[in-house]
Amino acid sequence: MKKLDNKVVFITGGASGLGRAAALAAAEEGGQVVIADLPDSDYQATLDQLKAAGAEGFFMPLDVTDTANVQQAIAATVEKFGRLDVALNNAGIGEASVSFLDTSEASFQRVINVNLIGVFTCMKYELAQFVRQGGGVIVNMSSLAGLRGAPGLCGYAAAKHGVLGLTKTAALEFARHNVRVNALCPYYIDTPLLKHINPNQRQLLVASSPMKRLGRAEEVAKAFIHLASDDSSYTNGTQIVIDSGVTA
Ligand code: NAD
Repeated sequence: MKKLDNKVVFITGGASGLGRAAALAAAEEGGQVVIADLPDSDYQATLDQLKAAGAEGFFMPLDVTDTANVQQAIAATVEKFGRLDVALNNAGIGEASVSFLDTSEASFQRVINVNLIGVFTCMKYELAQFVRQGGGVIVNMSSLAGLRGAPGLCGYAAAKHGVLGLTKTAALEFARHNVRVNALCPYYIDTPLLKHINPNQRQLLVASSPMKRLGRAEEVAKAFIHLASDDSSYTNGTQIVIDSGVTA
C-alpha cells in the first residue's frame, strides 16, 4: 500500500520546480496527479516525466488569479475523477529584489494577486468540495519569507505570511469537516524561480545555508508527501520548515 494510493492530487504550478517534483513524488506514491498551471507553462515536460516514471498525469489549464477559471478547473477535476483528495497550492511568482521604498504598487499588487489571493481563491473552492465529500487535505506553499522578514522582498514576504494566516484559519474552521490544512516553508531551493539571481547572489545564498548548499525540489516534495498523507493524520494548522537549519 502506497501513501497516496488512488488519491486525486491537484497541484497548482505543477509544471515547474517544486510543483513538478511534488507531482512526481505523488505519482510515485500512487496518486492520480492533476497538473494545474498556465496554458503557456512547461506542463508537457512534467507530463513526460510522469510518463517516463510509468504514471499518467493530467493537465488542467489554470490561472490562479482568475476566479472563474479556478472554480471551473476544480469542478472539471471533480467531474473527471469523482472527487478531490489533496490540493497543493503552490503556484507562485518571485519579485525583483528592491527596497521597500522602491517597491511600486503595481509590483506589490502583482505578487499579492498570485501568491496570496490566488491561494485564497483555490482554497475556497477546494474547501467547498472537501465539505461536500466529507474530507480532504490542503498543503499550501509558503516560504521562510512567511515566517520572518525578507529585506528587498516586501510583497513576497507579505504574501507568504498571509498564506500561513489562511492555512491556520482554514485548519481551525474545517477540522470538524475532516479537513487538514498545513503549509511548507522552504528556504532557497534550486528551481527556475531563482533564474534571475546572478552568480554572486547565488554564492551568498549558498553561504547563508548551514549546509552550504541550496535545497533540492525533491527534498520539499518529501515533506509534501508527509503532509498530504495519513503519516501526518493529527497534524493540522502548522508548517514544515525546510531550511537546512537557517532558523535554528
Ligand atoms: P517555478 O517558477 O519553478 O514554478 C512556479 C510555477 O507556478 C510555474 O509552473 C508557473 O507557470 C506557475 N504559475 C505562476 N503564476 C501562475 C498563475 N497565475 N496561475 C497558475 N500557475 C502559475 O517556482 P518554484 O520555485 O517551483 O516555486 C513554487 C512555489 O514555491 C512558489 O509559490 C514559490 O513562492 C515557493 N517557494 C519557492 C522557493 C524557492 O527557492 N524556489 C522557496 C520558498 C517558496
